[in-house]
Amino acid sequence: MIKLSQATLGQEEQDAIARVFTQHKYLGMGQEVKLFEEELTAYIGMPDRHVVTVNTGTSALHLAVQACGIGPGDEVIIPSVTYVASFQAVSATGAKPVACDVNPVTGFMDPDDVRRRITPQTKALMPVHYASGTEGLAEVYAIAQAHNLRVIEDAAHAFGGTYQGRPVGAIGDVLCFSFDGIKNITCGEGGAVVTGDVAVAAKIKDLRLLAVHKDSDQRFSGQRSWDFDVIDQGWRYHMSNINAAIGRAQLKKVAGFVDLRRALARQYRTLLKAPVQPIMVDLTTVAPHIFPILVPAEQRDAFQEYLKAHEIETGLHYKPNHLLSRYRGTGCPNAEVMWAQMLTLPLHCNMTLADVDHIATAVNTFFKGD
Ligand SMILES: *Cc1c(COP(=O)(O)O)cnc(C)c1O
Repeated sequence: MIKLSQATLGQEEQDAIARVFTQHKYLGMGQEVKLFEEELTAYIGMPDRHVVTVNTGTSALHLAVQACGIGPGDEVIIPSVTYVASFQAVSATGAKPVACDVNPVTGFMDPDDVRRRITPQTKALMPVHYASGTEGLAEVYAIAQAHNLRVIEDAAHAFGGTYQGRPVGAIGDVLCFSFDGIKNITCGEGGAVVTGDVAVAAKIKDLRLLAVHKDSDQRFSGQRSWDFDVIDQGWRYHMSNINAAIGRAQLKKVAGFVDLRRALARQYRTLLKAPVQPIMVDLTTVAPHIFPILVPAEQRDAFQEYLKAHEIETGLHYKPNHLLSRYRGTGCPNAEVMWAQMLTLPLHCNMTLADVDHIATAVNTFFKGD
């Protein structure tokens, strides 16, 4: 079976874990986390950007929303086609996630629908780098500026790509990355917030450790806070040394991962024939995390079964959130069409171009045969 997604792990990651056991003898949040944050900052390449790691991408989003002072009575606009994590992260603060429609070709949030959904309660926009794409992001920022809104980017798919000539993370209000088990780089589980807003970064550093003021700095110097005060609702969302050590080994490999992901995606695009329509992202800039395609809705389920019978695992990214009981909404026709037509083909760094040839042959054969 060719897996839909998979981490690419080697001796380096095993050695990194062993180092935590033998050298640090502390599995919690300490030196490895501090070093991972410094290396992520160096990778992003802008000294005035602040990187705060956390235990998941969902936590990163949750803390980003909370640290922007958004909560009960506030609204955040999110594209309906995203992992439910984006919606849960907003509703966890007491704020209301408002689903908006997406561009039918790119899956990115539709700026015109965003404008229609802005109310006096709207405090932030949460664009998702869907399939790592950013077409439309500049317009989202223009809307945010005109309405005095924060922008919290769900960049879970986007690590390793570039935006406006710099690594994703170098530009933008608040960005959230995921380093979960299958993302472009993995920590096992992990996430990070990147922002130029020093107050937001400082707040998130506290919130990840039960809102104990400056406990992050204490732990990085091998100490803890004992006599402290707490004002805010905080969480146990910090990253562990184990996860950070894995992430540090992965970060060293990111350029190779990105090159391979782009090559695999290009090969799919070269080989796949109509009626298959790949979701379009700019492969010269993005680091493609998934490879979603659109196919005729009436054939989609049979097509998925056919690929499964040929040992090719596929997925659906994602069920629109406005169709879920918790986040019920209306007026997202493009999202609903996408939901009926979407299928995601395998894309990960244990694949070769020959695997893509094999998958594309199976796909084209299915559609020729009807
Ligand atoms: C993976 C993902 C998240 C959540 O990240 P976790 O680290 O799994 O919590 C959020 N949004 C999107 C679009 C994702 O793909």
